[in-house]
Amino acid sequence: MSLSEFALIDRYFRDCGAGRADVRLGVGDDAALLQCPAGATLVAAIDTLVAGVHFPPGSSPVSIGHRALAVNLSDLAAMGARPAWALLALTMPSADESWLGGFAAGFSALARAHSVCLVGGDTTSGPLCVSVQVLGHVPEGAAMLRSGGRPGDVLFVSGTTGDSAAGLALEQRRLMATGEADAYLRQRFLFPTPRIAFGERLRGLASACIDVSDGLLADATKLAQASGCGARIDYDAVPVSEALATMVSQAQARELALTGGEDYELCFTVAPGDVGKLRQTLPADQWGYRAIGVLREQGGVEVVAADATVMHFSHCGFDHFEH
Ligand code: ADP
Ligand code: MG
Repeated sequence: MSLSEFALIDRYFRDCGAGRADVRLGVGDDAALLQCPAGATLVAAIDTLVAGVHFPPGSSPVSIGHRALAVNLSDLAAMGARPAWALLALTMPSADESWLGGFAAGFSALARAHSVCLVGGDTTSGPLCVSVQVLGHVPEGAAMLRSGGRPGDVLFVSGTTGDSAAGLALEQRRLMATGEADAYLRQRFLFPTPRIAFGERLRGLASACIDVSDGLLADATKLAQASGCGARIDYDAVPVSEALATMVSQAQARELALTGGEDYELCFTVAPGDVGKLRQTLPADQWGYRAIGVLREQGGVEVVAADATVMHFSHCGFDHFEH
């Protein structure tokens, strides 16, 4: 490596993200010292991005830095947690300064936006692989779990889904688009927005929550299973962005919205008696979410069209070990 490991950490990662008073000791010692607020529960998540698996080889380093943090922030959002600290294990073939500058800029901008401080990590050489751990907290007993749903609870999703899968297809030239739709969909893949503020606001309102990383259908199924229920999803209620709608047929858009991954939206349930409170406290037009179905006792998740036809899809989400 042209740059020594120490110089590299010092230059790119010592002051990465936000400064925080609760970081008693950050990058530089053998471990970081972090002060969790009294009465709070520590919330921890880790995710790894592997070149060629989670992003196309040659992807923009700014996007890789952003996504490596965003996917973890999204996990904290799903728990209703407030993120505070991050650790970064970075493996890369060489210390390419222009790559490192882009990566650190993408990571740091998102970290600052959510007041997250990079407090430590590990740097090694090898094939490009980025592992980020995020730590945050939630008031004791207040975290949203996948398992809290009950039959009759209304199923919701934030934003629109399928955009990121379309954006990846555009990046890989498997799909063509022009102008605004092209830029918007690529942005949704390259720079996903973790729904941190929304997750925190859902605490106490949602009975269960999961973030949409593998695809809406796959993740809604995980939530339903964890809650010991099944679910019905209304095919016509699945939200599709204007950009996606202009690019492919309505049926293709809905299929992508249900089975494309990496949206990092929140899929959550609300007990029927709390739906009024949800709509009042978090107006749907302001927070951008919609009801897409309901949990039910009968196991399995069905996607049902307006004429009661049960829809089937060739695959139901991304699984690394599926063949
Ligand atoms: P050790 O050998 O004790 O694990 P290192 O030499 O690997 O320590 O790291 C020195 C310091 O730099 C540690 O505080 C570590 O947390 C931090 N660090 C190493 N790599 C990174 C990185 N990619 N991002 C942030 N901090 C890092
Ligand atoms: Mg080390």
